[in-house]
Amino acid sequence: MSAGQAKPIPPGGTIGILGGGQLGRMLALAAAPLGYKVHVFCPDAEAPAADVSAEWTKAAYDDGAALDAFAAAIDVATVEFENVPAAALERIARTRPVRPSAAVLAVTQDRLAEKVLANRLGIGTAPFHAVASPEEAAEAARHIHGRGVMKTRRMGYDGKGQAGVAQITAESLTAAWDALGRGACILEGFVDFTMEASVLVARSPDGHVTSYAPIENRHADHILAESLWPAALPAEVGEKAEAIARALAAELDYVGLMAVELFITAEGRVLMNEIAPRVHNSGHLTIEAAATSQFEQHIRAVCGLPLGSVARLSDAVMVNLLGDAAKDWLKFLADPGAHLHLYGKSEARAGRKMGHVTRLHPKGSIA
Ligand code: AMP
Repeated sequence: MSAGQAKPIPPGGTIGILGGGQLGRMLALAAAPLGYKVHVFCPDAEAPAADVSAEWTKAAYDDGAALDAFAAAIDVATVEFENVPAAALERIARTRPVRPSAAVLAVTQDRLAEKVLANRLGIGTAPFHAVASPEEAAEAARHIHGRGVMKTRRMGYDGKGQAGVAQITAESLTAAWDALGRGACILEGFVDFTMEASVLVARSPDGHVTSYAPIENRHADHILAESLWPAALPAEVGEKAEAIARALAAELDYVGLMAVELFITAEGRVLMNEIAPRVHNSGHLTIEAAATSQFEQHIRAVCGLPLGSVARLSDAVMVNLLGDAAKDWLKFLADPGAHLHLYGKSEARAGRKMGHVTRLHPKGSIA
């Protein structure tokens, strides 16, 4: 079935979500007020989304029988995790709409393919070169100079599968490629950005698009620490950022909400870092600060409903609660300005996303 079918899925229907993490949990919580049930498909034993979902299938993504039974039980499938194997989505797509499509995930699962797509659309990125051998490492060193970042093309997140290179040479690149396991990698030139930002863009099956104003993202140890809305950017830079996200969503024939992560330079250049084909950590603050949360917008898009208003109701700052930070839940609850969200994870490993806190600020007070 094509993602482009525009017939709405009426309330009462069941949305199938592949992946069972906190993004699925917040999607399920947004689906309920619109009258939908959620069925989570997830291989993990612990699944934050399962706690709030009507149905849960615990099975591997290559379990054909489980995928077929899941497809038979839902009206539309979506993902909350970008590394769901494309084959699983293709199998479900034989009988149910899958939004976003397997073809979209095939592009966004590959750092090289998504940068090639961006450049084809005239969207800037860090300079990059594919590296899958010492010969290609030497070739990359002839094209890109100075500082760089070697990344695995697939399965990287929160800085995993990355190796910084202080000075690009054939030798340093080969060493970084060795350290990453000698697979298919991409070398990126280091971008000396002044801000990291994200744009959340939603597109419905009929091609209608909405984008939220850019959000500023601050990272610590490669993990998102804090998001601020709105990002302190000149209007024309913000418009450029939104135009990039809209162009990518249209080119991908995307259905649902996705996040485009961007680097902003001192000269006001806007470069695409990567596409997250799902709701995004930076968008959690839209739950309290926007007329329509990113989660509701995604549900609206995948069900073929009219998209909601992306108006910002107030400024907002969201802080991730990593590891033991969530142990302060009582303190956050005692703070009348703090909106606490906990993901129901039992084990607080260092760096693990356990929850987040959003604080609202009067409009115009942040940027
Ligand atoms: P990624 O997994 O590609 O989003 O990278 C995680 C973080 O590493 C980004 O949010 C940036 O802070 C940093 N980073 C990644 N690629 C580059 C680059 N080419 N230049 C500078 N910083 C980068």
